[in-house]
Amino acid sequence: MNEIEKYISGMLRPGIAALKPYSSARDEFTGAASVFLDANENSLGGPLEEDFSRYPDPLQMPLRQALASLKSVEPGQIFIGNGSDEAIDMLMRAFVEPGRDNIVLLPPTYGMYSVQANIHGAEIRRAPLHTDFSPDADAVLSVSDVHSKLLFLCSPNNPTGQCLPEDFILEMLAKFPGLVVIDEAYGDFSGRPSWTTRLAEFPNLVVMQTLSKAWGLAGLRIGMAFSNAFIINALNKIKYPYNLNSMTIRLALQALQQPDSVQEKVRILLAERERLEQALPLLPCVEKVFPSDANFLLVRVTNADDIYRYLCAQGIIVRNRTKEMHCLNCLRITVGTPGENDLLVTALLEVREEEK
Ligand code: PMP
Repeated sequence: MNEIEKYISGMLRPGIAALKPYSSARDEFTGAASVFLDANENSLGGPLEEDFSRYPDPLQMPLRQALASLKSVEPGQIFIGNGSDEAIDMLMRAFVEPGRDNIVLLPPTYGMYSVQANIHGAEIRRAPLHTDFSPDADAVLSVSDVHSKLLFLCSPNNPTGQCLPEDFILEMLAKFPGLVVIDEAYGDFSGRPSWTTRLAEFPNLVVMQTLSKAWGLAGLRIGMAFSNAFIINALNKIKYPYNLNSMTIRLALQALQQPDSVQEKVRILLAERERLEQALPLLPCVEKVFPSDANFLLVRVTNADDIYRYLCAQGIIVRNRTKEMHCLNCLRITVGTPGENDLLVTALLEVREEEK
């Protein structure tokens, strides 16, 4: 084991470090053959026209290769999950010993980190963002200890929409005792370089991304974690062998060949975000539109509960975030199509006096 492997291996849950993974039929034989009698599938096929009778590739090699060349990393540095939510789950399973370890969050942030921590019996420590949604480095370090295994930094952050500053993230990478997980689910909208470009510098860095947002493939369920090969091997060792289905793998491979169409849609959504950023503050029921690096806006309104209900009655669903820390009377609004955004603005313009 090299130094990095020793360091990471010391952070893994003991049972996971020692685990001998399940070996599927498709793991054991990887060469070329024409007769597959090794996985108890139905050799006659299924009722559908397209053939789904065979188990998918557990290592997802062609997809990992396509992602590797798109993201300029090695295939061995990529874990692919059933959405990036699966990557959150696998990180907890691999590193957080129930009842002993803790994770650190910067609320308000993405809700799944705390849900997964609760499922895994991990203590949650919180270092809230300031009221302007900037991070507090001293607070993070003061709540952390040797049992702090994962620090989740969502950048751009959900629900605030803002990226965390680079100097703050660098300080965390230097001083946080466990792994620093940067969730870049909305990174394609930020125009900033991904932290995947700095993986070689930081053995404790994990970057999460997803095809659910800018790539417009939320229904296919594909998320990624990028890190050094040792961490990625640990995640691959504990995932379900066939966590991605054949259809998803095939369609994702097709989609990855069309990055230009994604860029074009991102460009349109960013123009629409700017249009909303200008239109919303002019409305009587809007008090503040927070700056956003993502495909949504956090908007403080006069009364979030009433306006949320009013919009629902108009058939327009947004996310009411009023109960989240520092988000009193805030709605999180996804940037829609130009037509959807027009409908939203028109509806908000017509909010009745009593709803303001
Ligand atoms: N991270 C963040 C910050 C998110 O907002 C979401 C989805 N809302 C996810 C991860 C999960 O995305 P998925 O599982 O679709 O990849």
